Amino acid sequence: MSLNGLVRRRSRQVRVGHAVIGGDAPILVQSMTNTDTADAEGTARQVFDLAQAGSEIVRVTVNSAEAAAAVPAIRSKLDAMGCNVPLVGDFHFNGHRLLTQYPECAAVLDKYRINPGNVGKGSKRDEQFATMIEMACKYGKPVRIGVNWGSLDPELAARMMDENARSSAPVDATQVTREALIVSAIESARQAERWGLPGDRIVLSAKVSGVQDLIWVYRNLAARCDYPLHLGLTEAGMGSKGIVASTAALSVLLQEGIGDTIRISLTPEPGGDRTREVVVAQEILQTMGLRSFAPMVIACPGCGRTTSTFFQDLAARIQSYLRAQMPVWRDAYPGVEDMHVAVMGCVVNGPGESKHANIGISLPGSGESPVAPVYVDGRKTVTLKGERIAEEFQAIVEQYVRDRFGARAQSETHESSSRAHAGA
Ligand code: SF4
Repeated sequence: MSLNGLVRRRSRQVRVGHAVIGGDAPILVQSMTNTDTADAEGTARQVFDLAQAGSEIVRVTVNSAEAAAAVPAIRSKLDAMGCNVPLVGDFHFNGHRLLTQYPECAAVLDKYRINPGNVGKGSKRDEQFATMIEMACKYGKPVRIGVNWGSLDPELAARMMDENARSSAPVDATQVTREALIVSAIESARQAERWGLPGDRIVLSAKVSGVQDLIWVYRNLAARCDYPLHLGLTEAGMGSKGIVASTAALSVLLQEGIGDTIRISLTPEPGGDRTREVVVAQEILQTMGLRSFAPMVIACPGCGRTTSTFFQDLAARIQSYLRAQMPVWRDAYPGVEDMHVAVMGCVVNGPGESKHANIGISLPGSGESPVAPVYVDGRKTVTLKGERIAEEFQAIVEQYVRDRFGARAQSETHESSSRAHAGA
């Protein structure tokens, strides 16, 4: 598939609930809850919030009997809220027991995440891993073989380190570990296939916390298999560091056509909003021109010409307003996610940037006449002034969305009803 000149790596397609990962399907945004899964009410609420923010698949940890027992209730609560987002269970150490002992949990989950480094030790490893694959086969579920730098299969890593030490041209330990991640993911997937899981029910990931390590590992993983790949920089960190590191790593890979789903593993600030990781994932895909999720606000950084905070307040207000409308607008106004709104601080670049956007406003900079020309589809339509510029501009945006994208929704409804009549 070619989009904006990018050629996507061709992977198999895997169905997860109603979502499709891989092949020519859009790159999906995923997220994970941080509630106690045993708290069905709190977890369902957070899954709902993540889905409302745009997460297309949500993972919950299933780490105990109480958590496994709560999963069916979480699904029922989501269904009652009208939320059909696919749910993935994250299993480590005891997944073989939980999936066997809680069949309702195994049945309602849409995918199992299995970490081959955490399925058991020695002879138990294969047996427990095989049990989880058997459950996936029994319930017709896909799995993600999710390898992680922090929990790499210790026996595999030790074996590869020994082989490297005995080789005539040993490489450094980091390189062996990178290679071990790839081998662990691919060998585990092949093992699952040998145990009867179809290849089109397997997704791979091999997460690490270093940007260059992640790029190397995924480039090589992509070259050696055609399973769909879930991308994410694990333990990305907090705030701007987490966002920058994830963006740096994922952008390189996405630009090379690698990656079928993404997750941004941000550490939330205390009391912070978990949906931030969804917004960041969407913004990476949208700013790269790979998908559209919500109208984009183009705002200048401001400078000595914008000495009041009015311009920043308006840009922030419009940005949050547009995002808050999306759960309703997504269906009511198809195409609205491609809209661009410019909020500019002065006449230097304001009118020019406003003309390129669907709607733009150029606020008065210091020393300029206190008026704000508004441009709609490249033409100046009105000049706002006074105390209510923000409210009036928001009303203009609302009207534009209704006129431009509401008309499109009506014509699409009309076309589909005409087709239905023609086919009747
Ligand atoms: S558009 Fe005006 S206010 Fe904004 S950065 Fe440029 S010169 Fe400064």
